[in-house]
Amino acid sequence: MPDRPLANLDGRTPLEASETPFMDDLVKSSELGTVNHIPKGMKSGSDVGNLSILGYDPQECFTGRSPLEAESIGIPLGPNDVCYRCNLVNIVNNNGKDFMDDHSAGHIDTETSKVIIDGLKEELQDNEFELYQGVSYRHILVWKNGLSKLETTPPHDILDQNTIDYLPTGPGSVRLRDLMRRARVKIKKIKNQNPELKSLNCSDIWLWGQGKKPVLEQFKSIHNIKGSVISAVDLIKGIGKLAGLDVLNVEGATGYLDTNYKGKVESALDSLKENDFCMIHIEAPDETGHEGDYKKKIQAIDDLDKKVVGPIVEGLRDKYDDYKICIVSDHPTPVELRTHSYEYVPYLIYNSKLNTCNHNQKVFSERSASESGVVIENGFELLGHFFKK
Ligand SMILES: [Zn+2]
Repeated sequence: MPDRPLANLDGRTPLEASETPFMDDLVKSSELGTVNHIPKGMKSGSDVGNLSILGYDPQECFTGRSPLEAESIGIPLGPNDVCYRCNLVNIVNNNGKDFMDDHSAGHIDTETSKVIIDGLKEELQDNEFELYQGVSYRHILVWKNGLSKLETTPPHDILDQNTIDYLPTGPGSVRLRDLMRRARVKIKKIKNQNPELKSLNCSDIWLWGQGKKPVLEQFKSIHNIKGSVISAVDLIKGIGKLAGLDVLNVEGATGYLDTNYKGKVESALDSLKENDFCMIHIEAPDETGHEGDYKKKIQAIDDLDKKVVGPIVEGLRDKYDDYKICIVSDHPTPVELRTHSYEYVPYLIYNSKLNTCNHNQKVFSERSASESGVVIENGFELLGHFFKK
C-alpha cells in the first residue's frame, strides 16, 4: 500500500488520495509509527516482508521465495532439492531485443495457465526437473539435487527492460537458460494449437526466487497463541504452513482487485472462534503498484478500507469487547517505480480496551505515521510488540 507523493495527485500518495474512513477512524485512538520489514542487504519483497510481519527474522530463516510457495502447494522437497519460481510472463521483441512486457502474463487465470503448464510439463520434465501447477501466473520448478547459487532476477523488477541483462548467471545457469528457451518454443506451439489462447499475453517462463526448504520455529511455541492466515498467494500460505498456522482457503481469492473480499472477511471472523490471531493478507495494492496505475491503486486501497477494515472492525465490535487490530504493509510498491522499494512502512495498533494514541494525526498515511516519530527498525519485533501492547 505505501507509495510516494505523485505529481498527478498534487503531491499526495495513493493512500492519501484514497477514501479510508475506517482506517482513519482507528488511527485516532491507535499507536502509529513506521516499521522496516526489509533488513539491510536483503531484497525488498513479500517473502522477506511477510516473514518479518509474522515475527521471523528474515536474516535467520529466509532461504528463497520459491520454497515457501512450494510448501503451500504441498510439494515434497528433499534436503538437496532446489525450488525455483516459474512465472508465466510476456516478453516482446523490439528491434531484435527482448523486453519484459508483463511479469504476470496479463494476470492469466489458473484454468488457462493449466493448459500452458501441462504442455510445458511434456516438454521440460525429466529425472531432474519437475514442474508444478500454482495459481494464476505463479508456478514452481523443482530441480532435484540442483544448484541454487545462481544470480536470478524477479521479473516484476525489470518491466520494460531488456531481458538479456537479467537472465540467470552463475553455476548451472546454462541449464536454466536452456529450459527457458525450450519453454518459449513450446508456448508458441501451444498457442498455435489452441486458437482461444492466441491473444494471451504469455510468451515465456521466467525462473527466479530459488532456494532450499527452510525451517521455521512454530508460531504457537514462540507466542503461545493459536493463529490462522488468509491469503490468495501461495507464498504467504507457505509461510503460514511452515509456521504451523491454520491456512484457510477462500474461494474466489485472486490476489487482485476482483478478489472475494467478503469471503476473506467472513473466513477471518469465523476463524477467530477457534484462534486468537488471524492475518488477512490483501495483495491488490501491490499488484496495482506493479501495474504503475495510480487510479487502480487508489481503488485497491478504497476497497481494502471499505470491504476489509470496515467489516472486520464491525464484526469484532459485535462479538468481542477485547480485541486488537494491527494494520501494516510488507514493503512499498510505488507506482512510479512499478517495483518494490525500501522506505519504512506505516503501521497502526488499535486496542479496544486501551487508548494507545501517541500522536495528534487524523489519518493513516505514510506521512502521518512518519510524523508520529515512532520507528521500529527490526520489523520482526512488531508482532511481539502487538501481542504485548
Ligand atoms: Zn510485489
